[in-house]
Amino acid sequence: MIPISAHTLLEQLLNLRGVTGGEFSAAQAVADMFRQVGCDAYVDEFGNAIARLAGTGDSPFKLVIDSHLDEIGLMVTGYEDGGFLRIAKVSGVDPKTLPACIVEVQASGDNSIVPGVIGVKPPHLLSEEDRTKTPSFDILFIDTGLADEELKARVKIGDYVTPIQKISYLAGQKVAAKALDDRIGVYAMLLAAQQLQGVDHAIDMYFVASVQEERHDIGPVAVAAEVLPDMVIALDVGFGDQEGTKPGSTSPLGEGLGIGFGPSTKRELSLLLEKVAKDNEVPVHRDVNAGRTGTDKDSFDRTFRGIPSATISMPLRYMHTPAEVVSLKDIDNVAKLLVKLATQDPETLRGALCY
Ligand SMILES: [Zn+2]
Repeated sequence: MIPISAHTLLEQLLNLRGVTGGEFSAAQAVADMFRQVGCDAYVDEFGNAIARLAGTGDSPFKLVIDSHLDEIGLMVTGYEDGGFLRIAKVSGVDPKTLPACIVEVQASGDNSIVPGVIGVKPPHLLSEEDRTKTPSFDILFIDTGLADEELKARVKIGDYVTPIQKISYLAGQKVAAKALDDRIGVYAMLLAAQQLQGVDHAIDMYFVASVQEERHDIGPVAVAAEVLPDMVIALDVGFGDQEGTKPGSTSPLGEGLGIGFGPSTKRELSLLLEKVAKDNEVPVHRDVNAGRTGTDKDSFDRTFRGIPSATISMPLRYMHTPAEVVSLKDIDNVAKLLVKLATQDPETLRGALCY
């Protein structure tokens, strides 16, 4: 496993501000990271960061690995006297996870970062009725500490807000942070690209850090049009085991990756992923997606003539909270599997396009 001190790149990724729809500067930073590990990379007009590692094969085969770089977050909707801001959620934020969070507002009035805190009443001042209420966006607010006039000059309606979370390593084996969904996918792709430097591979590898996944998986529409992939693998998070969940609904952290099986998944590709994993001692299990997968894969399915695709997932605890948790071992294993996939004979991958 990569020593914790070597995870600087992961920490840089997690600290990028990239709420759905506001990912442009994060995408530029990600494109830069891919250039540093030997890829050609650019940000397309839609905001996706697209990186390419050219293969040496005679007849090009394009394999796209897709991870989304956007994160869930908040948006300013109004002001209250006393330096307070009203907020709404952007994508799947659970308001129960927000009270007492330290946040930062990307203030467009003066292009600065305004720190704030999501305020809550002390328990001493709560009425009996208040004690039974769950937080909702009608009552949540951000306290910036600024005077009203300065607040209105700096922070504008529609500005993005993200939580600030210190990155922690649990027992030296797991990482706890915000935005692990799905920056760990982006990180695993960067590790794979790094490990592929100087390695001969016939197929063209595309590593795509896509935007707007948390808003109906929109980024892949532009990616598909630009890259015209032969095959796609969506790399995202799955539900990790945690206290109190139903048996069978989650997967243990650090014990393997999920390979998706379901009606929309290209079964031959999923079987190939299982085989490559087994041949290279990467532990995997099956994720059954009987309906939609809830990943970018669903969007690739609907582009052009439909693109054969599959999913790889990393189990993650506390999804869509400011303190998500994943295993570093699973991230290493994803990178290993992607490298082994990249070095497959193109004919093997073409075989997975057949029925
Ligand atoms: Zn995700």
